[in-house]
Amino acid sequence: MKKAFITGITGQDGAYLSKFLLDKGYHVIGMIRRSASSDMIGERLRYLGIIGEVELVDGDLIDLSSLVRLMSTYKPDEVYNLAAQSFVATSWQQPLLTGAVTGTGAVNMLEALRLTHPSARFYQASSSEMFGKAQAPVQNESTPFYPRSPYAAAKLYAHWMTVNYRESFDLHASSGIAFNHESPLRGVEFVTRHISDGVAKIKLGLASQLKLGNVNATRDWGHARDYVQAMWQMLQQDEPDDYVLATGRAVSVQGFAEMAFAHAGLNAADYITHDPARLRPAEVDALLGDAAKAAQQLGWRANVSVEEMAAEMVDADIARHRRKAG
Ligand code: NDP
Ligand code: GDP
Repeated sequence: MKKAFITGITGQDGAYLSKFLLDKGYHVIGMIRRSASSDMIGERLRYLGIIGEVELVDGDLIDLSSLVRLMSTYKPDEVYNLAAQSFVATSWQQPLLTGAVTGTGAVNMLEALRLTHPSARFYQASSSEMFGKAQAPVQNESTPFYPRSPYAAAKLYAHWMTVNYRESFDLHASSGIAFNHESPLRGVEFVTRHISDGVAKIKLGLASQLKLGNVNATRDWGHARDYVQAMWQMLQQDEPDDYVLATGRAVSVQGFAEMAFAHAGLNAADYITHDPARLRPAEVDALLGDAAKAAQQLGWRANVSVEEMAAEMVDADIARHRRKAG
């Protein structure tokens, strides 16, 4: 039985990747950080009905010794580094923590592998945010990076260190330069989930407006379930490499909100209000990816449309609020 080790298993992608790997027959080991509320951990794994099927072990990305201990104990075949301080807006409030976890944390993981278990295959969760102030209207693996937030700068460090460890130490280290991917398990602080949750509350009479910041920003939004498949596919290749993962279609925040409201039978214009506090110190105006390399070399493509995803997210949030109300 193959062993996969996932950092960030309690997050959106960690949950979907766990489900995907369990279905493939893997033994899935997930690293969780110490919490005073350990009984509350694993909501997303519970949502997918797999909390009892994964092995959860203690460790923290900023604690190199925990990673060394885990790698030498478990010797996984594949390591997926999904853990991060992943929210761009927070990265201006906590730039050093973001650097330590999202940037240096990834290097800690690479070091732990190099020192104790260099034969493992490694996946780094790189981000389209690294393109930031995009230097081309459609971004692919050769588009220059221009990070616009502490989060993106930290991801860029982790990305180049992944490339460097591949070239320096011959590690099987790959990175997915993933464009935004969402789902009912997306953190509620991100705009798509903020929208689907807000629409659900309005539909159920629990709220009367939805506050948004820059509604003109555009993103290339796919479904997380599709993206975790590509992560696994990268680690099945003979040679490690970097791949853009994207749908090839951009939609504005306003456009996503209109889809979500329309699915609930509501008119977006009646509910959206502008909240200047939600604007960012530096904005990423537009991202649109070209995943031709992943299509050619991995045979991967994103299958779920943004309309289908918005509908799934709204339905899930309506169901959640109904359950909460008892
Ligand atoms: P989430 O924010 O949902 O999950 C982040 C995970 O990291 C959580 O499990 C969290 O644990 C864990 N974590 C945070 N800090 C630490 C730490 N110090 N030590 C160990 N674990 C830690 O992210 P997603 O699932 O959406 O994304 C997965 C990865 O992909 C992230 O690295 C993200 O930056 C990157 N990415 C995501 C994209 C997207 O659109 N979703 C796009 C491109 C890249 P806890 O539950 O305890 O907080
Ligand atoms: P990001 O691409 O990783 O920053 O993902 P987000 O979902 O956090 O933000 C996507 C875009 O939506 C950014 O351009 C934000 O400025 C914009 N946005 C507009 N209103 C909001 C809001 O209320 N919350 C969030 N999170 N983003 C918003």
